[in-house]
Amino acid sequence: MKNRKIVKFKTPEFICINCESIIPWGRQTKLFCSELCQEEAKYIRYHRKAIFEGKANLPDIKQAIDIKRISIVSGGYPLRERTIPQKVRKQVIIKSHGLCQSCGKLGTDIDHIQGSSNDLSNLQLLCILCHNEKTISNFRKVDPLDPKFGSIFLKNLDLDKRIKNRKPFKICDDFKKWESSFRGISNERKKLYYEWVYNFANERSISGISADQIAGKLNNLNVPTFSGLGKWDRKIVGEMLRVQ
Ligand SMILES: [Zn+2]
Ligand SMILES: [Zn+2]
Repeated sequence: MKNRKIVKFKTPEFICINCESIIPWGRQTKLFCSELCQEEAKYIRYHRKAIFEGKANLPDIKQAIDIKRISIVSGGYPLRERTIPQKVRKQVIIKSHGLCQSCGKLGTDIDHIQGSSNDLSNLQLLCILCHNEKTISNFRKVDPLDPKFGSIFLKNLDLDKRIKNRKPFKICDDFKKWESSFRGISNERKKLYYEWVYNFANERSISGISADQIAGKLNNLNVPTFSGLGKWDRKIVGEMLRVQ
């Protein structure tokens, strides 16, 4: 058994259902190549649904649409807020007495006063309406001489096309069928992916490589576990090889 040649199985490659690029290694069972693509598709479904329900011009819905749009076009603005440590968030709330620093109503959002520094002096509490208003007014029209102008222009054209077309262009644009398509594609990808993991482990096990070593290889290759949490170990590899 010692010199048995290990059969190589081609790593399954999946395509991002939003931008059609290849999903990077380590996110294999996901449907989107990045959080930004996931957010973009979510925004498209939200906007299409608002139009479908005749609500796209209601002031609060319009504000929510504008804010999501800006966040997508400018490369994922809301991701920033999530990175503020819990301890700092609490300090901001205490500093502001829980009130919006613009209108005095109950505060809900942590706002970066300027730039993206998470320093306590650069953070304030706002209500969602004031926070959105500030973000929209800060989003200046991009100068045609700005090097990013071309790509932002094209992005807007692409988004408009996907939002306004009567029939959804992509699976992830279809708010009516999304729940079930998501589950279907996700299960299909998981199945193919874990078939590959099983073959990878089984080939090595047949060749006399220990479960411990196989687990180490899977970890080195950054292969996500079935739950997506934690690391591979002897026990998980052993169980996988027994179950199949
Ligand atoms: Zn993508
Ligand atoms: Zn306010």
